[in-house]
Amino acid sequence: MQIKMALAGNPNAGKTTLFNELTGARQHVGNYPGITVDHKEGCLLHGEYKITMTDLPGTYSMTAYSVEELVTRDYLVNERPHVVINIVDASNLERNLYLSCQLIELGVPLVIALNMMDVAHARGIEIKTKQLEKLLQVPVVPIVARSGEGTEQLLETCIEVAAVKSPWAPRDISYGEDLDTTLTALVEKIADNSFLTSSYPSRYCAIKYLENDDQILEKGRLESPLIAKELEEIVESASKHTLKTLDVYPEALIADHRYGYIKSILRQGVLTHKFDTDRLYTSDKIDKVLTNRLIGPAFMLFILFALYKFTFSWSEIPVAALENVFSWIADFTDSTLPDGMFKSMIISGVIDGVGGVLGFVPLIMFMFFGIAILEDSGYLARVAFMMDRIFRIFGLHGSSVMPFIVSGGIAGGCAVPGVMATRTLRSPKERMATLLTVPFMNCGAKIPVLALLIGAFFGEHKARYMFLFTLLAWVVALFAAKLFRSTVLRGAPTPFVMELPPYRFPTMRGLLIHTWERTYQYIKKAGTVILGISILLWALMTFPGLPEDKASLFEQERTAISEGVSEAISSQLRSNSELSPEAEVLAAQLLAIDNKEKEATLRNSIAGQIGTSFETVTQYAGFDWRTNIALIGGFAAKEVIVSTLGTAYSMGEVEAEEPESLGVRLQKDQNWNKVVAVSALVFIMFYAPCFVTVVCIAKESSWKWAFFSMTFNTIFAFLMAVAVYQVGTFFHLVT
Ligand code: GDP
Ligand code: MG
Repeated sequence: MQIKMALAGNPNAGKTTLFNELTGARQHVGNYPGITVDHKEGCLLHGEYKITMTDLPGTYSMTAYSVEELVTRDYLVNERPHVVINIVDASNLERNLYLSCQLIELGVPLVIALNMMDVAHARGIEIKTKQLEKLLQVPVVPIVARSGEGTEQLLETCIEVAAVKSPWAPRDISYGEDLDTTLTALVEKIADNSFLTSSYPSRYCAIKYLENDDQILEKGRLESPLIAKELEEIVESASKHTLKTLDVYPEALIADHRYGYIKSILRQGVLTHKFDTDRLYTSDKIDKVLTNRLIGPAFMLFILFALYKFTFSWSEIPVAALENVFSWIADFTDSTLPDGMFKSMIISGVIDGVGGVLGFVPLIMFMFFGIAILEDSGYLARVAFMMDRIFRIFGLHGSSVMPFIVSGGIAGGCAVPGVMATRTLRSPKERMATLLTVPFMNCGAKIPVLALLIGAFFGEHKARYMFLFTLLAWVVALFAAKLFRSTVLRGAPTPFVMELPPYRFPTMRGLLIHTWERTYQYIKKAGTVILGISILLWALMTFPGLPEDKASLFEQERTAISEGVSEAISSQLRSNSELSPEAEVLAAQLLAIDNKEKEATLRNSIAGQIGTSFETVTQYAGFDWRTNIALIGGFAAKEVIVSTLGTAYSMGEVEAEEPESLGVRLQKDQNWNKVVAVSALVFIMFYAPCFVTVVCIAKESSWKWAFFSMTFNTIFAFLMAVAVYQVGTFFHLVT
């Protein structure tokens, strides 16, 4: 038998943890609101039952205020799951039951999973489950989702509820005499006309009308303009009445009564505190210090710096080791494959391209591990909380902070989930401003570029520069937001309340799963998207090759040098044996010609021609034609920048005894220096978002905005790079 179950609950109540526990999936568990916006599905078998489980986004309520609320509500009324598991945080019962109230009113077949019993217990909160069950008339099962305690019992209960196959049974809550009278009038009209009743119970629909729920009002007008108008008139006069008599809107009254209902239940012997209730919990005590106006931000910056220090110092050895592995693979391929196009593609396209990206896996892993600690412990939510104060100054909303952090605000996120996470913003203008500025953060794909250039040019102070470039990203993003909010996206700010989840000690398993999830995404991308782009770019950098006449010129030079050389020396060259001094000179000359030919070939390639033609503009920012090729590649995906630089600079390489790393090659190149490095970094950090992000922005808003984001960012980044390069070069000249 098939059973459809859905998980609903407040953010941080443990939905995803339970979902993973039951389905064995590894969905992302987050310690802050706004991580799950789409619902996730999973399957499990339990005896003869095949259960599909849906993890709905976290919501406090079911009004049409935010996307999560709409997603949850629409899912429930459209999909009609056989059982809805309402996860309730036992340590925060009163607020969590607010949603339960609404589920009860909607009448879904409900089971309450009383989660975090361990936390409640530790805080001395005692809950009489049976009593709660009796008063709510809903089965209540205490669980600890994190350890799996009670989940078996929960499943059993859910199956029992599903087996009854009872239709939806909405239950009424009283909203006081005034509103109840209005509700009765509304219900009558709704029921008589079967108005929207295919989706919603009539009283529920009536309440939504009283709450002024945008979505329902709109649906109503579509269903029957006439009845909708009558209903709206009834509501209108009711709100006039409550405003006059109580000075509140019906919505507020409804919320008051719901809380009242909950309070009365909890007072009837359900909830007892063993300890003094106004004692400060440990979390609050910690927060007194960590979110203090002065100490808080200082500590935050310290943590950030420590994260980079940790990442760079610990990853140094594994990164170098991995680099060796890839250069060994390249050497091995070089000596086994026959010369030709195929070999060139494998080495320059595949190994250099993918290897260049994979080489940073240890660094990325350490960084993700650090972030996982911040996230799982609950500290990241505090970062959001503190940033909120700053965000308001720049016309952004508190809910914008998480998208920024998800996009790589600390380091190594991705703008795609960041763009999605902006769905939690209710005001379209604040949302647009956030959407347009999150790509400025240093996502995981930019980290290798940062690491490469910082390592090559500012090697002594890696963590310090990483820290500075992170701050720069924030400053630029905030000022850009301010610019948008005072021009194209002008509008009033909307209020924001942030709730801080309690600090939790991260589990090793959780940390490892988080680290691995994200690292795996990175590796997967390298093996798929990046591989494809690398090969494409290799082709662009290889074809059409040198024209006959030019190629033969090089050939002539070679024969000219080799002529008159004794047989002994040429055989030395062929056999790769120990070279005599004369042979060495000859070898060097031949190699110089080879390199010139390679460079000429690259310059003549499609990519080379494009890169060269851009030089007329990019010279003002200090970028040569090879760098241009890499930057153009970066439009597709930022990871490609490192690998393309690698290919471009290895193709025209000047011989060295040992194979050199790309960093060293850049250091030695005459077109590169510290100023160019900073100019390039600035450009890379702020120019057009990668292709996937652009598509995502278009989907979340419109192609018009996506296009705006590409052009605005590129022009803006270029101007910044030019400024850096010109000012930097100028001061270099005078000193
Ligand atoms: P969601 O927002 O409802 O999906 O909540 P999550 O599943 O992301 O959980 C939020 C946090 O609560 C995570 O850090 C979990 O590890 C933690 N958590 C979940 N269930 C329990 C529990 O039963 N006990 C404790 N102590 N922590 C839990
Ligand atoms: Mg979740």
